[in-house]
Amino acid sequence: MSLSFHYAGSPAHIAFGEGASQEVGSWIEKIGCRRALVLSTPQQKGDAEALAARIGPLAVGVFSGAVMHTPVDVTETAMRVVEESRADCVVSLGGGSTTGLGKAIAYRTDLPQIVIPTTYAGSEVTPILGQTEGGRKTTVKGTKILPEVVIYDATLTTGLPVGMSMTSGLNAMAHAVEALYAQDRNPISTLMAVEGLRAFRSALPKITTAPNDIEARAEGLYGAWLCGTVLGTVGMALHHKICHTFGGTFDTPHAETHAIMLPHTAGFNGVAVPELLQPVAKIFGGSVGGGLWDFAKSIGAPLALRDLGLTEADLDKASQIAVENPYWNPRPIDRSSIRALLQQAWEGRRPEN
Ligand code: NAD
Repeated sequence: MSLSFHYAGSPAHIAFGEGASQEVGSWIEKIGCRRALVLSTPQQKGDAEALAARIGPLAVGVFSGAVMHTPVDVTETAMRVVEESRADCVVSLGGGSTTGLGKAIAYRTDLPQIVIPTTYAGSEVTPILGQTEGGRKTTVKGTKILPEVVIYDATLTTGLPVGMSMTSGLNAMAHAVEALYAQDRNPISTLMAVEGLRAFRSALPKITTAPNDIEARAEGLYGAWLCGTVLGTVGMALHHKICHTFGGTFDTPHAETHAIMLPHTAGFNGVAVPELLQPVAKIFGGSVGGGLWDFAKSIGAPLALRDLGLTEADLDKASQIAVENPYWNPRPIDRSSIRALLQQAWEGRRPEN
């Protein structure tokens, strides 16, 4: 078949480099703003206050209440601070949880966002917002949600604990693996996905032994940008459906769930599209799922769903939910094949494929 695809590039500014976050004040001015509200989680409040102090008169305050899965009541509290402070932009300093809060504010106000990511989740380059209300997670997509400026500065990531660095990296890698077989993939998304996987293959082992290695940290952030970008441009499949099911219904931790599931979902789909996942087997060695599992084990990542507190009864429920309203997937799915896949992941067994 001749080559045929649709491609749309992102309009966001990407500023990448050691010390790049020193320029946040000039980015605030470049996008025509003067009153920035700095956002963070409670754990990163000190860093957010230091950033606000550095921004000086261009900062109108800090809101440090961001939490995972962007609960609507937290957004409403933050919205009151936005209004009282008359903020004209937000600066989100942190991982996907803080970026999620900035996106939720932008979705309601169209305020511009500057994001300074400190994990590898990749949310900063997607036009997607997931938010929770009454125990249900819903997702919205739109141009208002995509951050205007992303500043990647490896010096801010050396404090990310090694364990979280590994699971966050595997979370990002899952975006790239699913991009390789996405229905709407294009030559650029495939190039970015392969390069993102290569970057993490190189960076994560170095970070386990030397968390302060700035070059390895920069390579990890480079991988995060690539993998996040493909998440924002092409559709995700079975892997993301299963992880959203576990996160939404069983409140499992986001990055760990992705990290554990990736070798199993990739191995499962590798049976249907071996040629599309061939770069994964090549980068990680061995079979698609086996190579990813060996890599995850070698960097000390969690391997078994049972270690997240899930029971076998939860797997019955999760497999039912995962086959209801499924995302498009390259391999047909049914309840029993998904149940077997989850059993393998629950026990932490190495996938054969
Ligand atoms: P997170 O943002 O919840 O961060 C985890 C913890 O690590 C937090 O306490 C945070 O303060 C801390 N932390 C972050 N960076 C640190 C650093 N450099 N040093 C020390 N501590 C640090 O975790 P996450 O995995 O980045 O994000 C998960 C959230 O992001 C989920 O809600 C998920 O749904 C969302 N997400 C959304 C998208 C999207 O496109 N919409 C993509 C990926 C993830």
